[in-house]
Amino acid sequence: MSYTVETAARTAPAAVIVAIDGPSGTGKSSTSKAVAAKLGLSYLDTGAQYRAITWWMLNNGIDVTDPVAIADAAGKPVIVSGTDPSAPTITVDGIDASGPIRTQEVTSKVSAVSAVPEVRTLITELQRTIAKGAALGIVVEGRDIGTTVLPDADLKIFLTASPEARAARRSGELKGADVSATREALLKRDAADSSRKTSPLAKADDAVEVDTSDLTLEQVIECVVTLVEGKRAAK
Ligand code: C5P
Repeated sequence: MSYTVETAARTAPAAVIVAIDGPSGTGKSSTSKAVAAKLGLSYLDTGAQYRAITWWMLNNGIDVTDPVAIADAAGKPVIVSGTDPSAPTITVDGIDASGPIRTQEVTSKVSAVSAVPEVRTLITELQRTIAKGAALGIVVEGRDIGTTVLPDADLKIFLTASPEARAARRSGELKGADVSATREALLKRDAADSSRKTSPLAKADDAVEVDTSDLTLEQVIECVVTLVEGKRAAK
């Protein structure tokens, strides 16, 4: 009996917490999902949570240009994230929000909503609870995961790419949207996310920076998988 227990303890991989941050269009979501799926980890898209609260505010007539109105309403919606990397889900008050949170309207308003400190406090708390509950570990992607949400993460990655590469990828995802308009919109959102006072988009001092401009998605995934496996083996 004790032999079986010892064997299980020796072979079960240690839980590992991976933070993947970076601006829009660097490949965070595709990389994070694939790495989590390959290594049997959970996955959390924190951008989807900020989009979900923004969508709820727009639907409920909250003035998203007014930080006081946003702060007052921040605690009202119930946001639930499903963390299976092969089928991540997000609901708001029990309603599937995975489609509506990707609209242009939400994308253009989310930076203003996510800059409000009361929103960040609530969502950060939710993110920490989800990460703590992931028995085998989790890949959490966002903007402030390594710096603020999970500063003790086992591995922090900061993905970057040239504005051109990011705009080309994003306009491909948006089924041929104009590349230069997409580039302007990306840069505007990054500037807002990087300049806000509360937990801006930033690279943690101890994050590994990976420039994905000239790498295929498969190469980025392989690079991150190797880094995670190294951390896991050292635990
Ligand atoms: O990753 P995605 O583009 O879906 O994120 C949408 C927005 O959510 C970002 O532009 C940013 O304003 C906000 N966000 C954030 N902190 C995170 C993740 C996303 O402020 N950790």
